[in-house]
Amino acid sequence: MKRSCRQVGTKENENPLAPLGRGEGEGDFHMKKIYLDHNATTPVQPLVVKEMEKYFTGIFANPSSVHSPGQEAADALMEAREAVQGLIGASKPEEIIFTGSGTEANNLAIKGITSANEKKGRHVITSVVEHHAVLSPCKSLEKSGYRVTYLPVDKYGMVNPDDVRKAVAADTVLVSIMMVNNEIGTINPIPEIGKMLKEKGIFFHTDAVQAAGKMPVNVEALFVDALSISAHKFYGPKGVGALYLRAGTRLKPLIEGGHHEKNRRAGTENVAGIRGLAKALAIAVESMGPETKRLLKLRNMLKNGLSGSIKNIYVMGHPEKVMANTLNVCFEWIEGESIILNLDLKGISVSSGSACTSGSLEPSHVLMSMGVDSALAQGSIRFSFGTDNAEEDVKYVLEVLPEIVSRLRSMSPIAPK
Ligand SMILES: *Cc1c(COP(=O)(O)O)cnc(C)c1O
Repeated sequence: MKRSCRQVGTKENENPLAPLGRGEGEGDFHMKKIYLDHNATTPVQPLVVKEMEKYFTGIFANPSSVHSPGQEAADALMEAREAVQGLIGASKPEEIIFTGSGTEANNLAIKGITSANEKKGRHVITSVVEHHAVLSPCKSLEKSGYRVTYLPVDKYGMVNPDDVRKAVAADTVLVSIMMVNNEIGTINPIPEIGKMLKEKGIFFHTDAVQAAGKMPVNVEALFVDALSISAHKFYGPKGVGALYLRAGTRLKPLIEGGHHEKNRRAGTENVAGIRGLAKALAIAVESMGPETKRLLKLRNMLKNGLSGSIKNIYVMGHPEKVMANTLNVCFEWIEGESIILNLDLKGISVSSGSACTSGSLEPSHVLMSMGVDSALAQGSIRFSFGTDNAEEDVKYVLEVLPEIVSRLRSMSPIAPK
């Protein structure tokens, strides 16, 4: 047994939410895997897998079929739709449109609402820190003649509602501001923005992919007309998302075909995936209170531990209005990518805040727009905790990371020696 490898000795069921069978390596030795990248994706909860299984070979019929197995599938679909409706505070099940991803939900909201409401105007407002699943469709709108305002953020990555108000023009048709940032965890003041936009009669969409299942999400309290979620960010399957669309909001579909999803998203429904999404969201919402406290404790333990053991590091994101599971830290004079690779050798999976675009290292657009120096932004690491993490995971990171950082700094040409 190598020193860098940890024996599988954790009580797997210490946390009732912890997926089974994790941490058991398949190789010659058992290297404990510590997954700290839950903002990228999460493992599917065993209860969710169990729920989904029923819809592959049992209740497999097409929900559009008239026969009784078809109607059974249609009922299962409606039940899931009503569950999601209830969990996000929507008033009608028809306000939930199931999609193939969070990305699709964002595209559907942005392209679908603008093109169905072109008469209201061709100006859209968003922010510079949005996920690419919002930025790219906005860029595409610009190519087709829309004006898009990309609002700046403060040093914590937060959008100021006053900036939204000032950006509103006579032809503003849609505003899209993310609820929680995936890289830094900063929580935007969505209710304030939503309330103001409602008074002005402007459609408001929020990308709530990083919020759903992790903090309360209620479409009434948020004053939103459209809201995107994605199952794989809250222990559901990949490839299933949903768009909440307030009743009465006109929308042009992206995908045309049959009459599925009330003519707003054609294609035979992914019944198993949709059941999985609904089940995963129900579990996440039910366990949210204590789980949030637990994750915040892990996050702060790591934050304080790193601050105490490594010099010249900077915690990014808002000090209080931040998602409990997300900790973004910039390590001065070294590159995030090198830290990731070194942590990976120790069985620890984390992400860099900087997206690696076609082989070239570009600093994160989020950190850059917060005014972070580009060299410092290169040294960003995002730790994102989840149900399968425990305090000993944090202890292990604190055991190995200081040594990695000092070794990388000793090799860095820009680090003072
Ligand atoms: C992951 C993510 C998305 C994309 O969701 P997919 O289901 O992976 O397409 C969109 N927005 C945010 C903020 C995300 O974190």
